[in-house]
Amino acid sequence: MSGYVRREYPEWSWSFSRQQTFMACPRRYYYHYYGSHNGWEFQAPREAALAYRLKKLTNLYLVLGEAVHKCAEQMVEAVQMGYALPTAETVEGEIRRVLRQVWKSSRDNQALFLQRPNRVAMLHEFYYGMEIRDEVIEKINARASASAKGLVASPIWSMLAEEGAEIVSYEQFDTFPIGDTPVYAIPDLLFRTAHEQWIIVDWKTGEEVEDNKEQVALYALYVQKKHGVPAESILGRLEYLNLGETRELTFTQDELEQVKAYALDSMADLRSYLRDPVQNIAKPKEEFPLTEFRQQCPWCSFYELCQEELAESVS
Ligand code: SF4
Repeated sequence: MSGYVRREYPEWSWSFSRQQTFMACPRRYYYHYYGSHNGWEFQAPREAALAYRLKKLTNLYLVLGEAVHKCAEQMVEAVQMGYALPTAETVEGEIRRVLRQVWKSSRDNQALFLQRPNRVAMLHEFYYGMEIRDEVIEKINARASASAKGLVASPIWSMLAEEGAEIVSYEQFDTFPIGDTPVYAIPDLLFRTAHEQWIIVDWKTGEEVEDNKEQVALYALYVQKKHGVPAESILGRLEYLNLGETRELTFTQDELEQVKAYALDSMADLRSYLRDPVQNIAKPKEEFPLTEFRQQCPWCSFYELCQEELAESVS
């Protein structure tokens, strides 16, 4: 692996999804951010190797979201190059191609996944031998069609075509500091209008949830820190593609300060689970309790690692 630098411990960072993972289940947080570290190595301990493998599991909702984001990214590139945008049928065809590919990989590559989990896609249900319910397939089918139509019909394309509009970044991996911590911020699309309005676009393929707004507020803080933009010049657009709806979000400086305070509180809380905050060494996994909301466990990637303990805790 060229350029690979081995680290004994993972690097400390913060993201909104990191906090969400912790809130959903501290043990899941442990396996995702610590227990799976270096689990890709040939001689990794059994538990680290298993945690790394399980971390690679996916589900149809994630695959759909990634396929739609990829199509959106290609459409932004087409706009930049001055090419025509694809039709909704073409976009839907591409989304379905990706879904079929992941389904086929999950059905045919189980042995390979056990050995090389980073090489092939594997759906949670195939790995755990669970049935994918008809309602889920119907929902994914409906969302694939609606998201393709919503993406092609999005008002973003005409906004980008306006004179003076300029794409700043799309799907660009970046961090910015809050305190001494690098914070991940990867807006789906960031562009600037001729009137110096900075627009953050977040494509969504699921239901509307409050957390989405907080995530965009964090992106707004990133735009302010990175580009020196006043809060009132930043507009967030949550594009709910399968619902055909947009939520526009404006921000005050106070609200951006609140996001920063939230991130700092979360960092302090998460760091209290570290044995060594300098090297980012976690306390033993027993310090990360299993969730109390056990209904989620059969759908959690790390179920295999928790099964025994879950059974013991109910008996
Ligand atoms: S299976 Fe349940 S307890 Fe274990 S990590 Fe997942 S959500 Fe947490």
